[in-house]
Amino acid sequence: MTDRYAVIGHPVAHSKSPEIHAAFAHETRQDLSYERVLAPLDKFRQTVSAWRDSAAAGANITLPFKLEAFEFATVRTARASRGGAVNTLKFEGAEIIGDNTDGVGLCRDIVDNLGFAIVGKRVLLVGAGGAAHGVAGALLDAGPALLAITNRTLGKAEAIVEQLKLTGGGPDCEFRALELAALPAARFDLIINATSASLNANLPLVPVSCFAEGSLAYDMMYGMTATPFLKLAANSGARTADGLGMLVEQAAESFALWRGLRPSTVPVLAMLRQAQAVARPRN
Ligand code: NDP
Repeated sequence: MTDRYAVIGHPVAHSKSPEIHAAFAHETRQDLSYERVLAPLDKFRQTVSAWRDSAAAGANITLPFKLEAFEFATVRTARASRGGAVNTLKFEGAEIIGDNTDGVGLCRDIVDNLGFAIVGKRVLLVGAGGAAHGVAGALLDAGPALLAITNRTLGKAEAIVEQLKLTGGGPDCEFRALELAALPAARFDLIINATSASLNANLPLVPVSCFAEGSLAYDMMYGMTATPFLKLAANSGARTADGLGMLVEQAAESFALWRGLRPSTVPVLAMLRQAQAVARPRN
């Protein structure tokens, strides 16, 4: 019988996960299907329960439900507990296993695909939703000199810092929440936009002065055109990257959890970049 998976979120129409998992399944000869499931904002539990009851094998969870998914899981992996967020569910008998592959996906894209070493760098994580919760621990484990987390609602950034402290902190690295007002006086080597502002073509409140010479600006959002955040960063001389590589890398890690096999990410990312280039509006 074909094993069924889905990405569950709100919105999900833009998600490239079905194409990615179809490519992984083709390469590794796995019999599975993968679809998009839109969950009403107030009905996450009901939607996931119905998906599980339909004899599905698992799901990816996307915005804004990653913190709710953590609560929904009956068993959580260490990396999910590190940030208190879940992006991957595996249904195994009576158990609902909750994992988080966003952090490893982000770090693999930045370090391996983009060739940018995080160790010893000053890192700013902008946003404190499910995605930021999921990646903060992995960023800390990558050994930056500083990990600062900022958000328009500062209390949520402070909650991530507290969660990191509870799960062991980081190796010789300073990490703290930073209020938006402190940003104009700060410089960073790596600035990661983990807000959903780009989904509505909005710009999080990051001043141009934050970008140091040779810095990398990374937007977790991906699409046909550069986001306002990436345009701002490029105009200030920073190197830029969107979140397509992270999407493919985190998907490979979810696939490995579900299927026990690690698919190749390089050809899938190249295929998506090609499609992105073809569809890009010309002016
Ligand atoms: P959540 O809804 O959980 O969190 C949203 C975050 O964005 C909050 O910190 C919120 O701030 C902030 N925010 C929303 N609008 C604005 C705005 N206009 N200005 C400033 N801050 C804003 O979403 P997720 O954390 O799950 O996802 C965040 C983004 O990351 C999405 O774009 C998602 O698509 C992307 N993503 C990409 C992945 C990839 O593989 N490439 C993987 C995971 C996520 P506040 O707390 O104040 O409300």
